[in-house]
Parts: sequence; C-alpha cells; structure tokens
Amino acid sequence: MKCPYCSKEMERGFIQCRDGVNWTEKKQLVAALSFLGKGCISLANGAADNSSTVYAYKCAGCKKVIIDYAVNDKQEQ
Ligand SMILES: [Zn+2]
Repeated sequence: MKCPYCSKEMERGFIQCRDGVNWTEKKQLVAALSFLGKGCISLANGAADNSSTVYAYKCAGCKKVIIDYAVNDKQEQ
C-alpha cells in the first residue's frame, strides 16, 4: 500500500488489543469498553477471525498508521 501523504511504500504490520480494536466517536472509559456506544465500529480487516488483531500500514516518514476497518477488496493485502 502506498502512503497517501508521501506515496512511498508502507510497511504492513498489526495492531492488537485483547478486547478488540474499536473506533468510537467519543472516548470511552476502558472499564466500559464492553458497552461501546452507538456509532462504534469494530475493526476487522481480515488479519484474524475476530477484531482483536487488525492489519495496519505504517509510514515511518510521515509517522502515520492507516487501518482498514473492514476487508477492502480494492487493494492487495
Ligand atoms: Zn508517508
């Protein structure tokens, strides 16, 4: 995957969290993560059967990490 900021090749790795990787509109109390609010997106982009591990692409030059939050057929994995 090419970095959208500098167009250099990004390095693929993983971001992992035991309780799942989630995007939320508002910051949640960690203790309340099992009650994620509306609009919560559980990230699952094919790196694992559950959302505890997701592929993440890193650009060291731009200090960016990009995560697809679902399987994206438009790009090679
Ligand atoms: Zn970059």
